[in-house]
Amino acid sequence: MKGRVYLVGSGPGGLGLLTFRAREVIDGADVILYDQLPGEEVLAALPPTAELIDCGKYGGMHTLEQEDIEALMVRHAREGRSVVRLKGGDPFLFGRGGEEMEVLRAEGIPYEVVPGITSAIAVPECVGIPVTHREVASQVTILTGHEDPTKGRSALDWEWLARSPGTLVILMGVKNLPAIASRLTGHGMDAASPVAIIERGLRPDQRVTTGPLGEIAEIARERKVRPPAIIVIGPVVELYREP
Ligand code: SAH
Repeated sequence: MKGRVYLVGSGPGGLGLLTFRAREVIDGADVILYDQLPGEEVLAALPPTAELIDCGKYGGMHTLEQEDIEALMVRHAREGRSVVRLKGGDPFLFGRGGEEMEVLRAEGIPYEVVPGITSAIAVPECVGIPVTHREVASQVTILTGHEDPTKGRSALDWEWLARSPGTLVILMGVKNLPAIASRLTGHGMDAASPVAIIERGLRPDQRVTTGPLGEIAEIARERKVRPPAIIVIGPVVELYREP
């Protein structure tokens, strides 16, 4: 029997947004490597027949190092097991799924990618913010806020981001929000641009914080905004309504 690895997206939270294919490979898994991002509802429904391995929190705060996770995936698959690497949202959007696929290719391990609904679109969507809109946003840019824009050379072009029309969706940006906001306004983005931060989207304790770009870092600090959260900047945020 030949082992195989499934790189699976769990969707943004809740069983309702897990795909049929994800459910199928999860139910057939011998080993499931997971972190906390898929959320309680999905994690509580993992089959007890599988060996469940907690890889840590999420967003770079792993109890297992990335290399350890990759080594475990490879080892279990080599031993003939069906291995699910379960990730929040979509496995190839900031989930290191691409890197894991490269390892599996290099090691000659058969694999399948199971796409998931990404939080980058679904979380704003579920609070009434469409990331594009024919009248005000013909483009959407999804970026990581993980790197501190004030330190060293950035992989992101902040000048371009500040001037780009449409919508910015920032993942992993809570910690660096003050630096991100000042970078954007410093490069000429309007300080009045509306911003929404959605914490723990699609979870029972979801919370939305809004404010203008020039004040959002202070508002977020006062409200003790914590990850995981999606930050949306642009005119589409005006469509948000308090429930
Ligand atoms: N692959 C995932 C993203 C992984 S990066 C996806 O496609 O959704 C982790 C970041 O995703 C978090 O820091 C946060 O910015 C965002 N995120 C994921 N799920 C979220 C949720 N339910 N609510 C708010 N933010 C979420």
